[in-house]
Amino acid sequence: MTTLMTYAGPADDRAPVIRTGGVPLVPAAFTWPLCATCSGPMMFLAQLPVDDPGAHVSGSVTDARHILSVFMCQNDPGLCEEWDPFAGGNQAFLFPGSGLAAVVVPTDGVTLVPETCGINCAAVDEDDYHTARSQWSQAHGRPVRDVLGQLAGTPSWLQADETPACPSCGRAMGFVAQLEEGHDHRTSMNFGGGGRGYAFACTPCGKGSFLWQC
Ligand SMILES: [Zn+2]
Ligand SMILES: [Zn+2]
Repeated sequence: MTTLMTYAGPADDRAPVIRTGGVPLVPAAFTWPLCATCSGPMMFLAQLPVDDPGAHVSGSVTDARHILSVFMCQNDPGLCEEWDPFAGGNQAFLFPGSGLAAVVVPTDGVTLVPETCGINCAAVDEDDYHTARSQWSQAHGRPVRDVLGQLAGTPSWLQADETPACPSCGRAMGFVAQLEEGHDHRTSMNFGGGGRGYAFACTPCGKGSFLWQC
């Protein structure tokens, strides 16, 4: 079984739903992350639920125990090691699923994706991501590009398995989701051109991690 994340149309910028783009929902003490290389504010990419994906077919994140909030530097694309899980060019925060509010977005830097995309979750009875994506596309008469990624399950790597070790406990981090660049090249995220992002979490340690491959 593969849980696909599919494009659900434009979403409100501050909606408490699974989405790419828009304004992140964060706890009160949150500080917008800065890039370790260029010191500019990162771009907010996505908020994703971290637990049983079957509980989130509604697309809501407010019923998730945790959400993973993913950021990546895009101030100097390709120059900030933004693909690397530990180089400081991206950051993934594990937040509680409740008590979150929209943050004030920094006024400098490249901070927001050009489009806020709502996400539906579609369970497909097929373990291979690419096959599941094709089946969904054919069954619904929609382009493969409307599949925005996969929630939980097993990552579909473009390159070698790069599952990160938790920086706190050293164990392999749990796979949360993978993200395609987007359904429309004009508003897509940049994972090197046809790349794919991979998000992980260690729930006991409260850590998140993100990387991409192309
Ligand atoms: Zn940077
Ligand atoms: Zn850990």
